[in-house]
Amino acid sequence: MNVIYWFRQDLRLHDQALLSQLCESADTLLPVYCLNPDLFRRLTLGFAKTGPWRTRFLLESLKALQTQLRQLGSDLYVYLGHPQQIIPALARQIQADAVYGLGAFLPEEKAEADALQRTLAEGGLPFLLHPSEGLLPLENLPFDLKDLPKNFTAFRKLIEPDLQVPPPLPPPQHLPQLPELSPDCPALPSMQDLFQDPPQDDPRAVLRFGGGERAALARLDDYIWQRGLIRTYKETRNGLLGEAYSSKFSPWLANGALSARQIYRQVRKYENQCGANDSTYWMIFELLWREYFRLVALQAGKQIFLSGGLRGKVPPAKVDQTLFAAWCRGQTGQSFIDANLRELALSGWMSNRGRQNVASYLIHDLNLPWTWGAAWFEHCLIDYDPCSNWGNWMYLAGVGNDPRPMRRFNPEGQAQRYDPEGQFQAHWLNPNTRSAGFHAHNLDPDNTHSC
Ligand SMILES: Cc1cc2nc3c(=O)[nH]c(=O)nc-3n(C[C@H](O)[C@H](O)[C@H](O)COP(=O)(O)OP(=O)(O)OC[C@H]3O[C@@H](n4cnc5c(N)ncnc54)[C@H](O)[C@@H]3O)c2cc1C
Repeated sequence: MNVIYWFRQDLRLHDQALLSQLCESADTLLPVYCLNPDLFRRLTLGFAKTGPWRTRFLLESLKALQTQLRQLGSDLYVYLGHPQQIIPALARQIQADAVYGLGAFLPEEKAEADALQRTLAEGGLPFLLHPSEGLLPLENLPFDLKDLPKNFTAFRKLIEPDLQVPPPLPPPQHLPQLPELSPDCPALPSMQDLFQDPPQDDPRAVLRFGGGERAALARLDDYIWQRGLIRTYKETRNGLLGEAYSSKFSPWLANGALSARQIYRQVRKYENQCGANDSTYWMIFELLWREYFRLVALQAGKQIFLSGGLRGKVPPAKVDQTLFAAWCRGQTGQSFIDANLRELALSGWMSNRGRQNVASYLIHDLNLPWTWGAAWFEHCLIDYDPCSNWGNWMYLAGVGNDPRPMRRFNPEGQAQRYDPEGQFQAHWLNPNTRSAGFHAHNLDPDNTHSC
């Protein structure tokens, strides 16, 4: 059997059920990734859908996956183009028997897969998609998806008593050989191929996030086992400065270099060896938020991207592009808000505390359309995840899953509480400040350490 495996938001080898099965059954396997040019199209708001920080992280993740696959005797063929044009042509060339890949439920990802499906069907080629799963398989939920509770607390209370998270699968030890294909594996696209003027690293960034599964597992190991930061997560998670206040797992989770089940397993293992506390509980609690927004998106589909959100009622807003541009640039004149927004634009990262505040400020103080803010986050964030991003924005705009009519933060009060000395604001508003970087270790997360 000759097959193509289409990588999508699953850029890893661990916890890959379908890929692992194919490694046992296929004679030849061609791993392919298509960098869809639609990702870089210019939005009417005046910026590209995907900006340079996430693109760089994605390119690094692809490079890292390619290196891993090469070490296992295979490779990763990365093309800049639409999957429905590239994959059927490859399939014909290698006389593939089938194409496999990760399924999708959001409109754009689904449309991409549907277009490929149609073209493959014309050639009579089977196309098999593996359902995209988070922490829990749908069959482990104690309710039908159509009965998903309308708010997070109700959801959590239903699933927490009997949380059954399958263990993550180990990575395959070998890959089937590559089919004969010419020309050879194309060179990976570079940042210069995609952006005229890629930005430089800002030394003030919380972390130089390195793409790929190994960097992800190293961070997991470092955070939980090497430095035991998980032990104090609940107390530090609202921090703003430095790499240690929260896990920083999100960029790797977003493109699938890290599976949520892998994090869950390590947290449970830590609890068994070192004892559970409020902080270990809180990490799982936050992963459940992520899970909840996935399920909301699975249920609501394109509604999560519409101004009316789940409620179908568009909140009143001012269409003021100048004000919006000032918000994007971090030039609103509100220093706590501006510091957070500059961090985002200059590094592709913002803390959860910052995200809550700048979103509330755009929605409730500037009265701009919440979907504009969500689109700017989509452009900038290296951890952009459609479900978590649009789900959180809907929530703050009062058109999502918040039982309260709206959630407004007072930026002065928040600054006093979370940045009482003004260090964070000085860090981003004063160009001369510097922060220490994070050096990834190449360590095995299965190693056990003293607590
Ligand atoms: C307006 C807004 C937009 C957001 N956009 C995104 C996004 O595009 N991608 C994204 O991954 N997260 C998003 N979040 C959620 C949250 O801010 C980030 O997940 C978190 O800051 C990532 O940092 P961390 O990995 O260090 O998180 P930690 O605090 O260490 O949490 C561990 C993990 O729990 C999950 N998590 C934590 N908080 C949330 C939350 N509120 N919603 C969903 N999952 C959560 C994440 O997977 C995170 O990696 C958004 C939040 C807001 C308020």
